[in-house]
Amino acid sequence: MEEAKTLFKKLKIYSLLDLALIVPVSYNDTTLSETLEVGKVCTVEAKVIDSSVYNGKLRVNFQLTRFGRRLSSTFFRTTPYHYKLFEPGSSHVIQGRLDEYRGYLQMPQPRSVNKVGTVTPKYKTVLKESEIRTLIEAYITEKNLFDEGLDSKEVSVLMHIHFPNALEDVYREGAFKPEFVEALKFIEAYNHLKKLRGKRIDFPAMAALNGSIELFVSKLPFTLTSEQQQVITQIRSDLARKEKAARRMVVGDVGSGKTMVILAAAMTAWPHKSILMAPTSLLALQLYEEANKHLPERVKVALVMQGHDEGDYREADFIIGTHALLYKEDLPKAPLVMVDEQHRFGTKQRQMLEALMDTEEDNRPHYIQFSATPIPRTQAMMESELIDVSLITTTPFEREVETKVIGRPEFPALLEHIREELSQNHQVLIVYPLVEESTEIPYQSLEESRGFWEERFENVYVTHGKDREKEEVLLEFRERGNILLATTVVEVGISLPRLTLIVIVGAERLGLATLHQLRGRVGRNGLQSWCYLFSNKPQNERLQKFCETTNGFDIAKLDLKFRDSGDIIDGTIQSGQKFRWLDMAEDEAVIAYAKSRLRSSMVSQTV
Ligand code: ADP
Ligand code: MG
Repeated sequence: MEEAKTLFKKLKIYSLLDLALIVPVSYNDTTLSETLEVGKVCTVEAKVIDSSVYNGKLRVNFQLTRFGRRLSSTFFRTTPYHYKLFEPGSSHVIQGRLDEYRGYLQMPQPRSVNKVGTVTPKYKTVLKESEIRTLIEAYITEKNLFDEGLDSKEVSVLMHIHFPNALEDVYREGAFKPEFVEALKFIEAYNHLKKLRGKRIDFPAMAALNGSIELFVSKLPFTLTSEQQQVITQIRSDLARKEKAARRMVVGDVGSGKTMVILAAAMTAWPHKSILMAPTSLLALQLYEEANKHLPERVKVALVMQGHDEGDYREADFIIGTHALLYKEDLPKAPLVMVDEQHRFGTKQRQMLEALMDTEEDNRPHYIQFSATPIPRTQAMMESELIDVSLITTTPFEREVETKVIGRPEFPALLEHIREELSQNHQVLIVYPLVEESTEIPYQSLEESRGFWEERFENVYVTHGKDREKEEVLLEFRERGNILLATTVVEVGISLPRLTLIVIVGAERLGLATLHQLRGRVGRNGLQSWCYLFSNKPQNERLQKFCETTNGFDIAKLDLKFRDSGDIIDGTIQSGQKFRWLDMAEDEAVIAYAKSRLRSSMVSQTV
């Protein structure tokens, strides 16, 4: 079936269920109408009484045999065929919208129906109507659908959708019946999960790692939270396997204590080597300091950055670095590779990292990624087909950040508050939407506002995403600064423990995930902190909801709910648009069910 393959490609579909999920946009129903309903499409038997032509239009008077009424039709686009077709005395079945004009029934430009009593699906794809129909008829069979693992109810829904006997079997009030929609949601989830599962390839690990972490844990100045312990246990059981290299993603809010999980994994690897890559030198440095502080002395740690190394990475047990690691030709092979703040790496760097993990043999290092971008639970459930996912949903200590939406009238009070924080030796971050002035955005830019702050305050620092000196500026600000002016794109990778107040200008323009990341900059040391969302439209429901929500996973869910609100420009909402029937904000139960069904179908196949 070479031809079908090309058609599949044109449709951009890859599975039988992809095809089954291309549902008709409408149906053409030629069942004879029981009643005459004005304003609706009717199909009626009609006998021609007479016809006439005026202004190039053909007007035909019919007698409706079953209803004993007359009806007239005007054909605007006529051909000699029409004249011949509607000869007086001839009988027809005609279909069209029924109108009434001064008590006379009319049906403008009706279709002549050849075959009565059929319901024909209409598809809207890049293919010709006949091509898509041929594909559907060839592939959408009960047997094929059962072979995909669907149950009899789901098969019946799809068969009815593609091969209906009567429209009322499928539609209720012009849309698919609710139980059909439920089935379609399930089929969509099931199909997606099945494809993901097919993509996962597992390799044997380079080594089974099961070093002790007891000493490390007992020396920590705090007790690990139960979620930290749980994730560490998962990772330890991953790493202890030789037959399958770990592939795990640990997702936890900023401040949820992922560094301890990283260190526990490095301890588990010891005396084998491990490598940790971080997206910026500041972060790498911070991780290096934490590792030296908390790991037992016998674990040798090295740092690799562009133009600056510490310790000998060739000798070290635990090598921490930036992407400079990727350029070291003599970097030792390590059976554990980790990536921190994975969401901040570019695609190219991730590819290079894959290369770093390539070994000559057909085994692979254990690979663990850490991300501070909470994803909705539904998305995590999906992704866990490809990669194991651990979520850390709590933080070690409750963060005291009060969030408020403010507008121009509150600005003087804000200035007052900033002064008060500075007087307590705290720091303030103000985030602007743009570096330079723009007519498109109704807010001041960084450059336009800078004078205002510099005139009124001392030690004002300025940086932004494209600023080459930003790391130096940040380090200097950490020590000496009062106010930092920045843009949203600046990644403040280091922790600023004295930062207690953040102002986000034009907050309604940002996705909640971004706002949450920014809010995560303050209150890292348990100090009471504030996040002010400055907006010209403070009556924004999305922003108000954000103020009440602190957990990143709840925010990810909110973000899905509000994904259609128009003004967001930062593109942080990525998930949820892929599905036609499934709602990633609501359908957790459907996904859970699809996962369990898939699991049991896999079992039955291997048994
Ligand atoms: P993340 O990398 O997830 O953003 P960090 O690992 O940097 O978070 O941890 C944030 C802060 O919390 C650090 O100062 C860390 O020392 C501290 N911390 C981590 N785990 C705990 C814990 N179980 N109890 C108390 N403080 C903790
Ligand atoms: Mg971290």
